[in-house]
Amino acid sequence: MNIQQIQEAREQYGIEGWGSGYFGIDDNGNVVCHPTGEEHLSIDLPDLVEQAKENGISAPMILRFPQIIENQIARLHHAFKEAVWEYSYEGGHRAVFPFKVNQRREFIDHIVRCGSDYHYGLEVGSKPELLAAMSYNLSEKALFICNGFKDREFIETGFIAKAMGKNVVLVVEGPDELSHIIDLAKENPALCPDIGIRAKLYSRGSGKWAKSSGESSKFGLTTVEVLHCMSLLKSAGMEDRLQMLHFHIGSQVTEIKRIKNAIKEASRVFAKVTHMGFSPQFLNIGGGVGVDYDGSKTSYQSSANYSLQELANDVVYEIGEVCKREKIQAPQIVTESGRVIAAYHSIVVADIREVQSTESFSAAEGFELDFNENTNHKSLGELKYIIENINRKNYIEYYHDSIEYYEEMFTLFNLGYVNLEERALAEQMFYRICRRALYFSSFEKHVPEEFESLQQRMVSKFLANFSIFQSIPDAWSIDQLFPVMPLSHHEQKPTHKATIVDITCDSDGCLERFIDRKDFRQTLDLHSPSDRPYYLGFFLVGAYQESLANEHNLFGAINEAEVYIDEKGDWEIRKTTIGDPIEELLNTRNYDTPEILTSLSKQLESAFSEGKLPGDVKDSYQSRLEVMMAGSPYLRESNKNKYL
Ligand SMILES: *Cc1c(COP(=O)(O)O)cnc(C)c1O
Repeated sequence: MNIQQIQEAREQYGIEGWGSGYFGIDDNGNVVCHPTGEEHLSIDLPDLVEQAKENGISAPMILRFPQIIENQIARLHHAFKEAVWEYSYEGGHRAVFPFKVNQRREFIDHIVRCGSDYHYGLEVGSKPELLAAMSYNLSEKALFICNGFKDREFIETGFIAKAMGKNVVLVVEGPDELSHIIDLAKENPALCPDIGIRAKLYSRGSGKWAKSSGESSKFGLTTVEVLHCMSLLKSAGMEDRLQMLHFHIGSQVTEIKRIKNAIKEASRVFAKVTHMGFSPQFLNIGGGVGVDYDGSKTSYQSSANYSLQELANDVVYEIGEVCKREKIQAPQIVTESGRVIAAYHSIVVADIREVQSTESFSAAEGFELDFNENTNHKSLGELKYIIENINRKNYIEYYHDSIEYYEEMFTLFNLGYVNLEERALAEQMFYRICRRALYFSSFEKHVPEEFESLQQRMVSKFLANFSIFQSIPDAWSIDQLFPVMPLSHHEQKPTHKATIVDITCDSDGCLERFIDRKDFRQTLDLHSPSDRPYYLGFFLVGAYQESLANEHNLFGAINEAEVYIDEKGDWEIRKTTIGDPIEELLNTRNYDTPEILTSLSKQLESAFSEGKLPGDVKDSYQSRLEVMMAGSPYLRESNKNKYL
């Protein structure tokens, strides 16, 4: 195997940076997953995809590694444990998982199961999330935090959860919510949950979600409102109910400095509230821990310039310092990290259906056009001459000449002097010249600007059998970058500078920005697949993408496979889920699918009775439509396209 090429690939795709010990390229050039974070336990992803296919799960599919979730929970827990020990912090740490980051049942089941040793709790922000969360048996010390805007019904349900023995904290978003709580507590003092206050901080986060914090944020109470709430509690004699102060400065905070500043401010608020006769136990610092999507460890949008350990150290240290200075008891630190817990555990895998390059449209590959000196237009002869004679010395001049001849061919076409074959021949020749010219320009110390933009226009488009809107919606809606790379072929040199298009009929369904150690790059290096199937993996997509998925063009949820590895390194697919069939997608848009099938069958019947269709053909058409209705909306594997 080509070890040097494989090493180059590791660097090129940055997998050792963003892989965080979970992903790598093995010495066969295949991408592998280490679900437990241990390098000697690995799953070969191309093998896994083949195995999934044997189990009836074809691409596009989500591969899930629940052990990664477990490992992330353990990493977070240990980071705080370590920091608490290091700084002899007198409070502790308690984590909850924010439901909105991945509400999928299997996901939350897993969080609850493997989080119980750590007293992992849940955080909800809406009524459906609340009801789902209430169905779980959490460990005795786990917190059950209710954020979000609440009406009386929501708050009453919080009392019910408390009656069930859960450690409910109702975090109030305004004095109105608090008045409801106080009213209900008067009727039922023993069942009144703990109360939290979400305060607006002056400090802001960084990155795309900075507007979740700061004075003008949609969330939280101003200082005046905080005081108002405290006085309401005092007059109701409910000072002891105020147990939590909550802050959340936004998701994917890229700079540790921002977190530190927010923590300092939050700790002071906490201390001042304590000095005013309240005795809150919990300081909830929210979520926001960034995922290093590009592996650069910088404060760039798709990165984060700190590790979990650094974060835990800074949080614990800063809170401890303020408490010492303010002479108050150190609180229990609560974290609501979602992204960093969930992101790593899933990969979207899509098969490549077609490669379009401007030079040779792959669909037309093997379709050669012949040049005929005697009958073809003389501009074509000139283009042919350029192809044969372009070199490193003359390429700029020859390239300019070719533009002229090429444009001339189009003018002649519009005037009717050139036929369709000649027009096609001109296209083919011109793009061949562009490729040659680009090749020669790559030897220059400074590539001339026009060749840089030519390079951009010459990229190949790889058609991937999936929907960006369904599987990685943030790549479309907020231009988030995810690591993308082929699952195999890394022993070979990439041959294409490529962008990716999906199968939706939307020109936004494309990826034209990719991770890089510096900012981003405009193309992805991909291979010419031929001997084996070629799959692209979209990594770190376990947080938010499923919650935000949409069914543009009626492409719905894709197939899934859940995979576990044991301590001997044997792995298995424990669970598979079939994606949404067409009928289900139509149902969500209020179509009555039996009605549709009846209508289709009636139309076939009348074609039959008019003698336009033989009976057996009619029956076979009928059953094909029924199969299609129950099948997936994505492209099926065709033998011809199998390996492209
Ligand atoms: C969304 C949210 C979180 C999760 O944030 P991450 O950046 O995913 O860790 C935590 N707390 C609250 C209140 C939230 O709204």
